[in-house]
Amino acid sequence: MSRALCLMYHGLSADGSAPLGADPHYTLPSTRFAAHLDALKTAGARLGSARDGLQQASANAVWIGFDDGDASNYAQALPVLAERGLRADFFVNPARVGNAGYCDWSQLRALADAGMSVQSHGLTHTYFTHLDAPKLREELRVSKAQIEQHLGQPVTLLAPPGGRAPRGLADLALSLGYHAVLGSAPGMARWSTQESISRILPRVAVTAGHDSAQVVRWFTHGQRALLPLQIRYHGLALAKRLLGDHRYEQVRARLLGTAA
Ligand SMILES: [Zn+2]
Repeated sequence: MSRALCLMYHGLSADGSAPLGADPHYTLPSTRFAAHLDALKTAGARLGSARDGLQQASANAVWIGFDDGDASNYAQALPVLAERGLRADFFVNPARVGNAGYCDWSQLRALADAGMSVQSHGLTHTYFTHLDAPKLREELRVSKAQIEQHLGQPVTLLAPPGGRAPRGLADLALSLGYHAVLGSAPGMARWSTQESISRILPRVAVTAGHDSAQVVRWFTHGQRALLPLQIRYHGLALAKRLLGDHRYEQVRARLLGTAA
């Protein structure tokens, strides 16, 4: 079994202010993102994309990914990655591409041309648990087809919006040509290059409060350092189940002071 720490970022800001369309809780200054990469490299991490990493057995792998296709993926993340010769995965929603605050197709093409992997985060960012079976299938099929059509590179990975994964999602994704599904439950990703990946791989969400020391601790201590995140995640998952998604988002916004 190979093992990797898969990090999930969202927006990056140039000056500490949140980019348009991004959630401030999930937005880091790009200088901090750069510091994470440099600290991980110093600690011995082999940094790269999940797309490339899943093809090979490797030790000390840390995968870098971005969800949502925020405009800062192109403006902020690409220069930081390119400067270091690194690749990352960008999970985008074709229905949002070109909207205010999001990358457009020419920016995503620039990411792809720079060696980045552009992958599916669903078509519309509707939580998959809110869709019936035919609509879910369409989200998976059409998002993959549209990205492939626009960028000319295969889409092999799926990250469900909000990490919401209905039963059987990984098998459905594999049947539609995806190689793996990356969720939002924290943990270490484990896989074998010998088998198809029918489990949803864990990822660790990096939020505004996470400094380089924290990210390096996840890498060096693995499971033990991730346990507090897992407890918190499963507590929140329970709250979502009890309150329902809509009520949960209202409560969360109020607690974070971002209620509209
Ligand atoms: Zn998302």
